[in-house]
Amino acid sequence: MTRDITTNELASDVFENYKRYLNPPLARVMKLSGSPVEVRASGTTIWDQNGKAYLDFAGGYGVFTLGHSHPRVIAAVREQMESISLSGKTMFNVVLGRAAKRLAELAPGDLQLSFWCNSGTEAVEGAIKLARAATGRAKIVATYDAYHGKTYGALSVSGRETFQAPFLPLLADVAHVPFGDASVLDEALRDAAAFIVEPVQGEGGVNVPPAGYLRAVREACDRAGALFIADEVQTGLGRCGYLFGCDRDEVVPDVMTLAKGLSGGIIPVGAFIARPDAWNRAYAKQPLVHTSTFGGSEIACAAALAAMEVLVEDGLVDNARERGAQLLDGVRAIAAEYPSVIAQARGLGLLVGVELTSEGYGGWIIPEMLKAGVTAAWTLNQQRVIRLEPPLVVTAAEVERALGALRAGVATAAEKLGRL
Ligand code: PLP
Repeated sequence: MTRDITTNELASDVFENYKRYLNPPLARVMKLSGSPVEVRASGTTIWDQNGKAYLDFAGGYGVFTLGHSHPRVIAAVREQMESISLSGKTMFNVVLGRAAKRLAELAPGDLQLSFWCNSGTEAVEGAIKLARAATGRAKIVATYDAYHGKTYGALSVSGRETFQAPFLPLLADVAHVPFGDASVLDEALRDAAAFIVEPVQGEGGVNVPPAGYLRAVREACDRAGALFIADEVQTGLGRCGYLFGCDRDEVVPDVMTLAKGLSGGIIPVGAFIARPDAWNRAYAKQPLVHTSTFGGSEIACAAALAAMEVLVEDGLVDNARERGAQLLDGVRAIAAEYPSVIAQARGLGLLVGVELTSEGYGGWIIPEMLKAGVTAAWTLNQQRVIRLEPPLVVTAAEVERALGALRAGVATAAEKLGRL
C-alpha cells in the first residue's frame, strides 16, 4: 500500500464498507474501541494506515506462531505457485504427502494418518465424524467453556450457550463436564464415542488444567472404549512451550486437531491426525466419505511444510517456554500491584490470560494498550479475560514493552475505578 493512500480517509472508507457490507454492529464496536486499519505486517509488528507500529500480542488469536509474513514460508508458497497451487484431486499431490509425513514425525506417539482441511472448525468436524464412524457410538463428551469452532458439530461440543442459542437444535447426544476434573469422566464417558478437550482452554479464558489431567483423560477413555480427541488448534505447534499441549502430560490422544499456526500464518489450513487403529476402524472400507475440495491444497501444504521446519530449526518451542515464563511473571507482578483490577494471571507458554475483577475493565485496558502500540484481545467465551498470545519469535525486550503497555492500561483502569 503506498504512502499517499494510507490516511484516515482510508480508515473511514474501510469502516463504511464494514458497516454497509459486512457486519454493522461489529463495525461500530471496533470503531469505538479505536481499531485502526492493518496495512502491513512483519515479524511481531503490524503497521496501521498512519504508519504507526503495533507489537502484536493478540497474534491473530494464535495464528502467527512464526510472526507475520515469515520470509521462508512466503518463499515456499511462491515457489509452489510457480508449478501448481490447488490440487486437481484426481492425481497424487507431492506436497500433501510430504506435509502429512512431517506432521506424523512431529506428532506424539503413533499419530499417523491425517486429513487436511482449511480451518480449525473443519478439523474438529472431521475428528467428531471419525469418532462416530470408528466406534459406532453417537455420544460425544466435551467440557464447559470449551471452544471448538462455529460449524454445527464443533459448535455443539463447544461450551458457551450464547453462541449456540440462535442455532438450536444442535447435534444430539452431546454432554458437557467440568474442565480439569478427571473424577467425572468414568460416569460421563459410558457408551461415548469420544471425549474432546483442549489441553489448555484458550477461548474459555486460558484455563490450565492440573498437571496429569490429560493422562487421566487417556486412562478414562481407554476404560470406556471412547476415543480421546485433543483439540490442539490453539495449543499445538509450540504455543504452550511444548511442541503439542499433550506433551505436557506425555500422552498420545487418538485424534489431534490442528489449524491456526500450522501454515505459519500465511494461508488458511487445518488438519486432524489419527492413530492408525482409530482411522482404520472408521475409514478403511470407505475412503471417500469424508473429503474436501480445497483441503490439502499444494500452496497450503507447502506453507505448512516450511512452517514446521522453521518451528523446529529456529527453536521456537523453547523460546515460547522462556518468553512465556517471563510474560507470566511480569503479569503476576502487575496483578500483585493492582488487585482491584486483576483477579488472576495464568497461562502456559505464550498463551497467557489476565483475568480481570470485572468484565468492563477490558474496555479501558485494551484501548490503552493499543494507544501504547500493543495489541491484545479478549477470549471469546470469557470476556473477563484478556489474552496475551504473541508470536513465538517474540524477544525479551518486546515482552517488557508489552508488559509496560499492560501496566499503563491497568493503572488507567485503577485510576478510573478510584474516581467512581
Ligand atoms: N478449536 C480451538 C481450540 C480453537 O481455539 C478454535 C478457534 O479459536 C477452533 C477450534 C476453531 O478454529 P477456526 O476459527 O479456524 O474454525
